[in-house]
Amino acid sequence: MITKFIKRILRRDPMVKHTQANNTGAPKRIPKKSHRIDPHLLSKNAVKVTHTLQQAGYEAFIVGGAVRDLALGISPKDFDVATDATPDQVQRLFRKARLIGRRFQIVHVTFFGKGHPEIIEVSTFRALLDNAGDHVAESGRILRDNVWGSQGEDAARRDFTINAMYYDPSSETVLDYHGGMADMQKKTLRMIGDPAKRYREDPVRMLRAVRFAAKTGFELDSATRAPIAKLGKLLNDVPSARLFDEILKLLMSGYSWRAIQGLKEAGLHHGLLPLLDHILDDGEDSKGANDFVKLALANTDERIQSGKSVSAGFLFATLLWPDLLKNWKSNSSKGMANIPALHDAMDDTIATQSSGMTIQRRFESDMREIWSMQPRFERRVGRYPFRLIESPRFRAGYDFMLLRCATGELNPAIGQWWTDFIAADPAGQDELMASVKNESGNIPGPAKRRRRRKPKSATPPESAAS
Ligand code: ATP
Ligand code: MG
Repeated sequence: MITKFIKRILRRDPMVKHTQANNTGAPKRIPKKSHRIDPHLLSKNAVKVTHTLQQAGYEAFIVGGAVRDLALGISPKDFDVATDATPDQVQRLFRKARLIGRRFQIVHVTFFGKGHPEIIEVSTFRALLDNAGDHVAESGRILRDNVWGSQGEDAARRDFTINAMYYDPSSETVLDYHGGMADMQKKTLRMIGDPAKRYREDPVRMLRAVRFAAKTGFELDSATRAPIAKLGKLLNDVPSARLFDEILKLLMSGYSWRAIQGLKEAGLHHGLLPLLDHILDDGEDSKGANDFVKLALANTDERIQSGKSVSAGFLFATLLWPDLLKNWKSNSSKGMANIPALHDAMDDTIATQSSGMTIQRRFESDMREIWSMQPRFERRVGRYPFRLIESPRFRAGYDFMLLRCATGELNPAIGQWWTDFIAADPAGQDELMASVKNESGNIPGPAKRRRRRKPKSATPPESAAS
């Protein structure tokens, strides 16, 4: 014990400022029989990290959302570790460790296993910052955050009580500074400290409140909810890249539809993404658009809840589709040919959205590919279907097309045709193509020539497949 203590003192980085632990109180120690966390849900790598740090004489805990999820009996999607070791000290203990960030320095420890590599995020206990000094902007927003502190201080600067619990895998004990476990039982989401002050420090916490409420099904405590109506406008000051990341997390939470309703109830949706305004506009005009987007979000939620991957490009392609469709139709009605009308509409849709938030840079090419494939699903003869199948993003385009069928925007028989075509052997594929010739008559069939049926499709009907 003593040697561990001495080792720890010697290891302390002399350049690092440690603040006096202020009066943050002692934590409640919750034993295994009360928290009932199932150790099987733990990441072996996260346990390895806490163990290595503890062996070296530091304190180390699994913390934050992972403890919340474990206490809910959910398998956490990622694991964060909090420690009293400084980032440099952490880095020295692991072979694959990288220092990340400037404003908020952390260490990523990477493990390569069978599947994807797993990154365990290790952060040093942070101090509470008062409003003096150069860390805080005039609005109260925190700018820099690398002053180390005690565990109690670290707990106090976290957002919600249920996100501020520390779990030690060695003793299987939870340290709870702010009554997180009691709030879990009450199914309450409660901000630590004075909620208005905490939202001013970081307005993104308002979006996090909505996201966690949707994800856990918990109610926002009334004092936590109350200031949001007035402070929502502070989101305008948040850098758009950060806002976008948060919106993406919200959409990928597995409860996106519930979260979007939550944004609306909290009055937070305006101006975040023009497309959200659009989705949440209940007017009769947008009913078709709403149905499509609702279905797309339900589909995304279902995929995420069953552990499947979702591409953000695909998700944004669906959210912007109603807008794109409107632009496409409008271009076509001005006499533009079908494909140029589509491409022109894509430019317009993306430009409008960029004026709100820069989503697209990273996802634009995926979105464009998915969109531009859509009219091609209606050409089901000759070499067209084979060329389409070979597109690198075919699967995404096909899934997207199936959504259009599900809302009746595109004839569901076309979706079924493609599903059969993918599964068929070469002879079956020939038969399917022959059936299209017979069915649509757009290419003279071998037998009788039928009258062309008007395609029931989302593409501007006047110019479909031109
Ligand atoms: P998720 O399931 O989305 O990963 P999470 O709670 O783990 O949820 P992270 O963004 O991974 O969320 O953050 C990890 C922890 O860091 C949180 O649980 C919380 O304790 C703290 N934290 C994150 N963002 C903030 C913030 N804006 N203000 C205060 N504390 C925060
Ligand atoms: Mg997390």
